[in-house]
Amino acid sequence: MSFEADVYCSNTKSLHFLLVPLMAQGHMIPMVDLARLLAARGAFVTFATTPVNLARIQPIIDGAAASALPIRFVELYFPAMDVGLPDGCESAELIPSADLFLPFMNALSLLRKPLEAHLHGPDLARWPKPTCLISDNLQHWTADVARTLDVPRFIFHGPSCFFLLCGLLIKQHRVELEVAMEETSSGPILLPGLPHHVRVNKHELTSVMRSDPNWSKYMESVRVAEESANGVLVNSFVELEPWYFERYHEVTGKPVWSVGPLSLYKEELDAKATRGKVSSIDNKLLFQWLDKQKAGSVVLVSFGSIVRNTIAELMELGYGLEASSRPFIWVVTEVAERQVPGVEEWITEFEKRVEGRGMVIKGWGPQILMLGHVAVGGFVTHCGWNSTLEAIAAGVVMATWPHFFDQFLNEQLVVDVLKIGVAVGVEKPKLFGIGDDNEVAVKVTRGEVEKVLERLMGGGEEGDERRERAKELKEKARMAMEEGGSSWKGLQDAINYVLESQQK
Ligand code: UDP
Repeated sequence: MSFEADVYCSNTKSLHFLLVPLMAQGHMIPMVDLARLLAARGAFVTFATTPVNLARIQPIIDGAAASALPIRFVELYFPAMDVGLPDGCESAELIPSADLFLPFMNALSLLRKPLEAHLHGPDLARWPKPTCLISDNLQHWTADVARTLDVPRFIFHGPSCFFLLCGLLIKQHRVELEVAMEETSSGPILLPGLPHHVRVNKHELTSVMRSDPNWSKYMESVRVAEESANGVLVNSFVELEPWYFERYHEVTGKPVWSVGPLSLYKEELDAKATRGKVSSIDNKLLFQWLDKQKAGSVVLVSFGSIVRNTIAELMELGYGLEASSRPFIWVVTEVAERQVPGVEEWITEFEKRVEGRGMVIKGWGPQILMLGHVAVGGFVTHCGWNSTLEAIAAGVVMATWPHFFDQFLNEQLVVDVLKIGVAVGVEKPKLFGIGDDNEVAVKVTRGEVEKVLERLMGGGEEGDERRERAKELKEKARMAMEEGGSSWKGLQDAINYVLESQQK
């Protein structure tokens, strides 16, 4: 497949975007798409990340080179071992324990030196000087780099405007919410000022990131850098959350551009199959099996890149899938990717029992391709924003099973606002990276799994209406990314902002 630089923006050729993603699959994957979209509009793009992350996207790097997209991938050395992380720990899901999460985040600013060395090195001389820096909002140190370069800086936000706005409201109303929560003895509290009933619970108010002073220090650096940014790019589309998009824009007081779903970036199937990482299953066999299933009959189960379930939790889920009558694909990252003890043996036995009706992917699956297959009708998801948006873009209804971070609010967007999902019923978050000793481990029984699958995949009139709404959103998502659509325009407005800033 060849990509032609857009003709509608020949001026874009004077632009050079420097992209610095966060090293975590859920942040890296959409920024790779963003890099290719910008390059497809004719701009030069430098994508800077660490060796482990570059190795994972080698097929994409090769594809970009073959299609002459003006993207350069630059390697930044990350001194993991110097800060007490294992060698090669260059992506969030590789962090072995919760106590190493903050050291990882604090070490991000060590990327500044290699990035600046690159910016002053011989490579750059062959390309125009960077004209805009786009970084993940958690890469706060890039604010100084943009100041030194004297270029505008945009932050890239992984999650939706819905989540971003709720996050701001939680901060703004934290004290009164805490008082209200005390009075009601811990029941969930409604967030004020929203057109929908959005609840926050004690865990959201008192998460580690909010209460630990070391985390607060890091988050304060993020906030300061965010305030100084010239604009915000969001992987969402206006039609999905119009009220939240407008309001978030008003509250931040700076340009906000919705540019997604970035997963709808047009590319060859082979490239989609290696999104994030090369698939752990023979894709030919997987799609031969899917081709044999009835339209809309298959349930896809996947919890993204970071969630690590214990063997006990996986067994409940597995028995629930086994008890349901539905064909399914279950991506179990806990085997090859996360190495949870005992899982491989149990899964091997499980596979034998469900042979023919269920497929198990041990490791990494081609999620975007599976969601797009006509046989897949439901998605059991942890509600990571990328997975959520990918399901929306594919028109697939969801059973929501949040684990931590933004996932509980994403669940409310899916279930209560958009009404395209059914909640599994999890109330307490897990702690990131914690295993069997997690006292607030997710407790979902096999019976609950079976029940939720029936509601999701069947569900009578209620189920049909849910599926109808999901189909409508799929169409809106497609249109947003088409030439002239809202997200297409969003990206163009961001490009125009940089063009205008050059003329000042
Ligand atoms: N993903 C994938 N295959 C897998 C697991 C995840 O392609 O087996 C992709 C998924 O499509 C999404 C990303 O990894 O783009 C996960 O991001 P998300 O925000 O959903 O969750 P996180 O991993 O950040 O918790």
